[in-house]
Amino acid sequence: MTELVALKRNGGRQRAADLPTATSHGTGRAVAGTVYIETYGCQMNIGDTELMAGVLAEGGYVQVDDPDLADVILVNTCAIREHAEQRVLGRLGQLQRYRNRRPELVLGVTGCMAQRIGDRLLGEVRGVDLVAGPDAYRHLGEIVDGIRLGAVEKGQALLELDSTEDYSGLSSVRGKGASAWVTVQRGCNHRCTFCIVPYVRGPEKNRTPSEVIAEVEEAVQGGYSEVTLLGQTVNSYASENWDFADLLRAVARVAGLRRVRFTSPHPNDVSERLLEVMAEEAAVCPQLHLPAQSGADRVLKRMVRRYTRREFLATVELARRIVPGIALSTDIIVGFPGETEPDFEATLSLLEDVRFDDAYLYKFSPRDGTPATRLPPGDDVPPDVAQSRLERTIQLHRGIQLEVNRAEVSAVREVLIEREARSPGDLLGRTETNKVVAFRGPAAWIGSYLQVRLTATSGATFAGEVA
Ligand code: SF4
Repeated sequence: MTELVALKRNGGRQRAADLPTATSHGTGRAVAGTVYIETYGCQMNIGDTELMAGVLAEGGYVQVDDPDLADVILVNTCAIREHAEQRVLGRLGQLQRYRNRRPELVLGVTGCMAQRIGDRLLGEVRGVDLVAGPDAYRHLGEIVDGIRLGAVEKGQALLELDSTEDYSGLSSVRGKGASAWVTVQRGCNHRCTFCIVPYVRGPEKNRTPSEVIAEVEEAVQGGYSEVTLLGQTVNSYASENWDFADLLRAVARVAGLRRVRFTSPHPNDVSERLLEVMAEEAAVCPQLHLPAQSGADRVLKRMVRRYTRREFLATVELARRIVPGIALSTDIIVGFPGETEPDFEATLSLLEDVRFDDAYLYKFSPRDGTPATRLPPGDDVPPDVAQSRLERTIQLHRGIQLEVNRAEVSAVREVLIEREARSPGDLLGRTETNKVVAFRGPAAWIGSYLQVRLTATSGATFAGEVA
């Protein structure tokens, strides 16, 4: 308790390094309770939510799936686009009703949006007791306990980036299902001009191979047969003379692990050796996310993506040659400042040339503090033009995806059954190439692998039947 009283005297703003660690948390404690965590954004955030749940579980907090049952509500946020932040602001407003009913409830905002505008959230959004950035989760238990005991003032901001924090020694509380997220890297050393990630997650930090492998082994022992290795540029992983190809091979050989995926790679770090590991190791799924962002060299240069269209296409060609049948997905941003109609058409032609299995398509969203916001204002693409380009991109991709997936109809694929679908009696599973299939079956099959015949496709997903 002495430590918590000391925090109160500090006036509400904490350096994470000054706080006690979660490993001491849970001893001699007076409070415990329930926590509800809502997650927005990418897979890294899903992994972080599981990490936070693990930190709080150390202190006796039990996770609940209804905010009405929670003593603590955490909203784990994304800052990558304006729209994502607006959604969170709306949600924080809705969550006030729980606080109105129970003023003792602690409401915290974590993740990239907390890191980006945490001070503003504390000042301007009613009822936020705590903001914590991605390097502060180790200390969540102490702060939450302190607020609940009245020993720490409300309005805590844990926003120090910590270049040494890799969360070693902590355990996650994983979600249901057969698939586990394992973070191998945090932060990013690139400076793509549109991206807020390096500013809210700091520079790249890699966990040691032994820690990663131990976590995968633990997940397998816990009943997970598929893992996804996570990192902001996961394939730039480097630790103790291991590169990502080494790590992937070692993980793929963990006894009992049936499937391993990874996300999100940077195209420049897709080496021949990595592709060879993908081809040689049976557990590595033949699936690669290759974020292109644009098909025009002018735009790629302004984005500081560090590859040309030609180099990107060479990587695609190499991947398809070394890993036959590999499924490729991508990210595209349209309407980046200075994007001309010919630039945009180059992006459309890239989609036509590659014929991605899947694509995540966005309009450029300016983020304060990123270099793209300092490009000349006259370069802005008018909103109606950006919207129309997005719609044209979606239309083109959907047509390509339908054709690509139609070619797979009638094939039999191994599917890992993940969960029940919305329509009663249907299950959802994924093929090795990450394609979603819906088919009839009992919930008892969840977590198992079955051979499923693909019978039809809507374009993005398949219908199937057990073969
Ligand atoms: S590689 Fe670029 S887009 Fe990806 S997280 Fe780093 S800065 Fe952002």
